[in-house]
Amino acid sequence: MAVHRSLWLQESLPGQMDAPPLVGRARADVAIIGGGYVGLWAALRIKQLEPGCDVVVLERDICGGGASGRNGGFALTWWPKFPSMAKAFGESEALRLTKASQSAIGEIGGFCTDNHIDAAFTQAGWLWTATSSVQMNAWESVVSASEKLGLEVFQRLTPVEVGRRSGSPVHRAGVLERQAATVQPAALVRGMREVALRRGVRIYEGTQVTGFTRGRPVVVTTRQGELTADRAVIAMNAWAVGLPELSRSIAVISSDIIATDPIPDRLAQIGWTGGECITDSQMMVCYYRTTYDGRIAFGKGGWGIVYGDHIGPDLDRNADRAHLVEGDFRRYYPSLVDVKITHDWCGPIDRTMDGLPLIGRLGGRENIFYGIGWSGNGVGPSFVGGRILASLALGRTDEWSQCALVDRAQRLFPPEPIRFIGGQVVREAVIRKERAEGADRRASWLAVQLAKLAPSGLEDKE
Ligand SMILES: Cc1cc2nc3c(=O)[nH]c(=O)nc-3n(C[C@H](O)[C@H](O)[C@H](O)COP(=O)(O)OP(=O)(O)OC[C@H]3O[C@@H](n4cnc5c(N)ncnc54)[C@H](O)[C@@H]3O)c2cc1C
Repeated sequence: MAVHRSLWLQESLPGQMDAPPLVGRARADVAIIGGGYVGLWAALRIKQLEPGCDVVVLERDICGGGASGRNGGFALTWWPKFPSMAKAFGESEALRLTKASQSAIGEIGGFCTDNHIDAAFTQAGWLWTATSSVQMNAWESVVSASEKLGLEVFQRLTPVEVGRRSGSPVHRAGVLERQAATVQPAALVRGMREVALRRGVRIYEGTQVTGFTRGRPVVVTTRQGELTADRAVIAMNAWAVGLPELSRSIAVISSDIIATDPIPDRLAQIGWTGGECITDSQMMVCYYRTTYDGRIAFGKGGWGIVYGDHIGPDLDRNADRAHLVEGDFRRYYPSLVDVKITHDWCGPIDRTMDGLPLIGRLGGRENIFYGIGWSGNGVGPSFVGGRILASLALGRTDEWSQCALVDRAQRLFPPEPIRFIGGQVVREAVIRKERAEGADRRASWLAVQLAKLAPSGLEDKE
């Protein structure tokens, strides 16, 4: 059965040939498992630092076939997580990393320009909004933390301005983070793949890794071959939940997206012409943006919860969940009731307990590294992740390999089946709570208490 591809991949793939699978035995200095943003940024960075290093990327599907070719294309910084980063890492290290995530946005744009990648990079900012009274000022701890440092990261907008920019009456308040950008996500990852190939990275697509030894060298087994490498980087996103060492580090949930017909005239009518990407402040966040050809892509995280490592076709497309997302879209944009939904798709999110990525040495080994847990904010931060993983893989002692994200303490999820059952109970409570709040009703005490057990989200909310 053909794989269901996102709108973005459908736009980006024609005319491109898949790389051949690995067949037989091969050798490399560094093996990278996973050909999404994380694996490819790491590969590109290694080649930049040490052009002679022999890097091989092993990808189960095609590069970008995972979350990198399916996401909403919001390139955000780590500012929304600054308070919890400051608490965990200390203020100066949190600020250093957050600033790196801020520079990453411009560097991604520069990478596209320099390499003639048309990924529709648009730096028009991110509107963080409230769509119910409970959500009002959800951003306050984040915004005031940046203001206390004397930094103008967020612009406080009047409710009228938020309504005007977003083109929707449901937005009651909000702030704008100016650094954020949008990209056509698949065009970016496919462009990265082309550049990596040109710079000598060897890429094998259609090459599922079935296991690897935990020694030195690492012997990576694939369906039809075997790769022996001195060092390995695991950049498998949600699929890393299948590795015993990482199985309790992340929980896999779905994020589901729908896209409309191109409607540039209607966008002009409602006034959403500035290119801002928008989120509300729900735990099960709604995220939405316009595209270069005047569509709206509208997504929501958290409808689906995966049992263990069972990431199946339901995480490529699910009509029931797409229908629920459409319901939110119609509620947020009632004047677009007649607009046709032309595409829907979804993908897995590798959620950590605290919403920050996990980067480190697998089981403490000095030659096997991992970078997972992007928790729905990986488009921008994966650029920083690539730098950290490259420095680790090259054995460098520098600002990246020594940063506070590496080998940090983590809270684990419970083992299955408790994670799945508990996740369902908490998700149902979050849905009940957010439905009540969306209608300006008080949620039940039980729903509120259970919802507090949900792992931390995309932002540190009040
Ligand atoms: C629907 C959706 C919307 C999102 N929206 C946003 C957004 O707007 N902004 C944002 O910042 N983030 C968003 N995200 C998250 C973002 O897409 C990810 O954080 C980011 O793509 C992670 O990059 P990655 O390289 O780790 O993952 P991936 O792109 O998933 O790459 C991992 C790769 O590993 C491969 N792989 C897995 N197992 C194996 C194996 N055994 N052998 C070989 N290869 C293997 C997979 O096929 C995959 O290609 C979204 C995610 C989804 C699913």
